[in-house]
Amino acid sequence: MAKAKIFSTHPLFEEARKTLETGCEVEYWSQPERPSREEIMRRAKDKEGLVTLLTDRIDEDFLRAASKLRIVANVAVGYDNIDVSACTKRGVVATNTPGVLDETTADFAWTLLMAVARRLVEGDTYARSGSWKGWNLDQMCGADVWGKTLGIIGFGRIGRALARRAAGFKMRILYTATKQAPPEIEKEFGVEFCDLNTLLAEADFVSLHVPLNSETHGMLNAPKFFRMKPTAFVINTARGPVIDEAALVHALEAGKIAGAALDVFEQEPFIHPGLKRSNVVMAPHMGSASVETRSKMAAMAAHNVAALFRGQRPPNMLNPEVLKTA
Ligand code: NAP
Repeated sequence: MAKAKIFSTHPLFEEARKTLETGCEVEYWSQPERPSREEIMRRAKDKEGLVTLLTDRIDEDFLRAASKLRIVANVAVGYDNIDVSACTKRGVVATNTPGVLDETTADFAWTLLMAVARRLVEGDTYARSGSWKGWNLDQMCGADVWGKTLGIIGFGRIGRALARRAAGFKMRILYTATKQAPPEIEKEFGVEFCDLNTLLAEADFVSLHVPLNSETHGMLNAPKFFRMKPTAFVINTARGPVIDEAALVHALEAGKIAGAALDVFEQEPFIHPGLKRSNVVMAPHMGSASVETRSKMAAMAAHNVAALFRGQRPPNMLNPEVLKTA
């Protein structure tokens, strides 16, 4: 029987390649720069499976051009780059990689939170500059994290992993989500449910953990920043467009909030010049970037593809209705 043809927009890692190559004929994009949309479209034309990264946009037009596709396996938990309903309409399975990156991403959100509160990047720059003249009482004073109030927006896998870290710092933890968690979960994580406006008014640190969709797009905007404490910090490891970046810049300039720590941006890789301030810590979208976790994510995407072409249900389907029978 002919092997299914797959295009992977990245060379992936060894385990993922082995899994894919067991049952499929795989073509990899192996240039250091990312392929253009046109290049991916061209290569996907005769393929039944596609392994994508979050920078690859899979929409109606793309699917029309790649009419043989049966699966799009995203190497990410977020899937705002994929039009899942267009996939469903065309009978294409869409999959993501939930669960394997929770702890690594929560670690990074915590790293950003600590870095902006304690002015780590400013301190590092100062230490390297050669202008440090020695210890002084009021030098590089930041904000305490211990005992403060953390507001978690989106209490899913990563939001909960962040709450576990905050518990070790004896923080009061508020959360908001589409629905309140069961009492036993609230007790386990030591968290209090509230609405978004209450969270913004009371939190010293506001951390975003929602998916990007039409409801969360621009969720933190000018009126929302106005509700925050002038001493509060915002941390974003979700997706850039969840924050209205121009409004964030204005809030920082006007002193409406104390600072921000950002792993994601509205129009990556463009960085709004107004964010290049000493009270903003920035990272180039590296929340899940540990060797172990990125390998697991790639392996998970490969397993989803391999399962489909073995006649099984891919374990991480975003549109299970596409395969009606088990
Ligand atoms: P998850 O388990 O699905 O959690 C998302 C949470 O957000 C859920 O509790 C969801 O509630 C809630 N939510 C959805 N819409 C909301 C709204 N309008 N208001 C308030 N809460 C809302 O997802 P996850 O695995 O924790 O990942 C979260 C996001 O992080 C991903 O979608 C991805 O974009 C991002 N991420 C970024 C990186 C990085 O490298 N920076 C790494 C990993 C993930 P319901 O379940 O009730 O809808």
